Amino acid sequence: MARRRQIYEGKAKILFEGPEPGTLVQYFKDDATAFNAQKKGIITGKGVLNNRISEFLMLRLAEVGIPTHFVRRLNMREQLIREVEIVPIEVVVRNIAAGSMSTRLGIAEGTRLPRSIIEYYYKNDALNDPMVAEEHITAFGWASPQDMDDIVHLTLRINDFLTGLFLGVGIMLVDFKVEFGRLWENEDMRIVLADEISPDNCRLWDTKTNEKMDKDRFRRDLGRVEEAYQEVAKRLGILPEAGVRDMKGPELMQ
Ligand code: ADP
Ligand code: MG
Repeated sequence: MARRRQIYEGKAKILFEGPEPGTLVQYFKDDATAFNAQKKGIITGKGVLNNRISEFLMLRLAEVGIPTHFVRRLNMREQLIREVEIVPIEVVVRNIAAGSMSTRLGIAEGTRLPRSIIEYYYKNDALNDPMVAEEHITAFGWASPQDMDDIVHLTLRINDFLTGLFLGVGIMLVDFKVEFGRLWENEDMRIVLADEISPDNCRLWDTKTNEKMDKDRFRRDLGRVEEAYQEVAKRLGILPEAGVRDMKGPELMQ
């Protein structure tokens, strides 16, 4: 694999130069981090599952007209994507109170919100990804008002579609994080969905038991982390043929 130039190594993925200009290869690692990388671990097989889950969700979203960076899956851990100029904002959508919203505002986890709420966080590890308002985003030029219109519109459509898709397989979409980027084609620019959508950046609860099926199992040491990711893939109809060979079995290493 030495033939490829590494562009960036993040907490969960590595980006390599792609085969054609304007493309990248996104490699999904098993590394897991939480609380701005203060907690680190390995979730065995996570990379394989997230590669498949994100592929599946991006393809379904593309079918309903959401533009995405996804081109095609290359192998168990890699996918070909279009290189975009990432908008340095994490867009969070919440349907049910959980995590930092519950802590900050004192709303019990599991409370259904009066309507879906969008929050923005400035992507900056050194600053701990602080929450920001749309005012900061447009004033500091991280995104233009037109970019933000597109981002809000796309985010709400993504939320509507994914909420229904997950409900159909017995999963509540409590909240999730997405990233967007600018895709240039000649003189034209489009905002497209980038990064990944997986149990690393969604809160997914079983509709019957309320059991958590996402990275909170790792964050909160709830155990059965690999199994939860596998169960999400299974319900989406992605497993079996996925990755069983590449997944060495359920052991969690710190
Ligand atoms: P991080 O630790 O910064 O979150 P990740 O491990 O998630 O990094 O690696 C993915 C990185 O690649 C992220 O910084 C993300 O913003 C960026 N990225 C995702 N999709 C694209 C794309 N299509 N083009 C360029 N950069 C991307
Ligand atoms: Mg990331």
